[in-house]
Amino acid sequence: MTDTPQDAPPEAQLEIRIIPVTPLQQNCSLIWDRETKHAAFVDPGGDIDQLMKALEHFGLTLKHIWLTHGHLDHAGAAQALKERTGAPIEGPHRDDQWLLDAIEEQGAKYGITDGRNCTPDRYLEDGDTLELEGVTFGVAHCPGHTPGHVVIHNAAAQIAFVGDVLFAGSIGRTDFPRGNHQQLIDSITGKLWPLGEDMRFVPGHGPMSTFGQERKSNPFVADRITGFGGAAAEAADQLAQRLSKRWS
Ligand SMILES: [Zn+2]
Ligand SMILES: [Zn+2]
Repeated sequence: MTDTPQDAPPEAQLEIRIIPVTPLQQNCSLIWDRETKHAAFVDPGGDIDQLMKALEHFGLTLKHIWLTHGHLDHAGAAQALKERTGAPIEGPHRDDQWLLDAIEEQGAKYGITDGRNCTPDRYLEDGDTLELEGVTFGVAHCPGHTPGHVVIHNAAAQIAFVGDVLFAGSIGRTDFPRGNHQQLIDSITGKLWPLGEDMRFVPGHGPMSTFGQERKSNPFVADRITGFGGAAAEAADQLAQRLSKRWS
């Protein structure tokens, strides 16, 4: 419980820092409640000493470990963090367990030796919710890059953690085993775009962007390429024409 006034929006209590980890510069996010200093890591892929230092630096207690998918650079430090802090691992979807079972094997390929296999305390399903100090985050199952990939989002704070589904100006790779290009496109247009154009997102790698920006300019999933919003855009056009006829 906190003594925050009832009318303070819950998202105002949240603080977020992005900490790039592993040689793959994966964007691990640290989210915390300003009052209680209770925190969640999204995708702690590695560099556990750096992550522990960040907790200490901000005076935080880790309560949750949230994973978007089972790749090494996103999930590699989850087990060690859980052992050190007692925080449970939540996510991804169970369809990524085969990857979580092969983190050590993936690490050998990239020369990253501190990754550990893990089994989540809770698998996530499409439509599930996650909680951090009374702030609720939605979960969308977004297969394509991996079969069990999930996206974690909060409407009030207008922020989504999308892992390797979508990047500023690009989309996730689908040339890995069990990747599926069309499924990835369908996840983006069917699960992410409905969250709204103003939704900002932290991708697994590289700079932040908004869904609206990507719908305009992303060479893989801009509306003019996917045809998304075609009917709605047309209707708006017709309405604008009718109005201009009426008033001119
Ligand atoms: Zn990945
Ligand atoms: Zn990645």
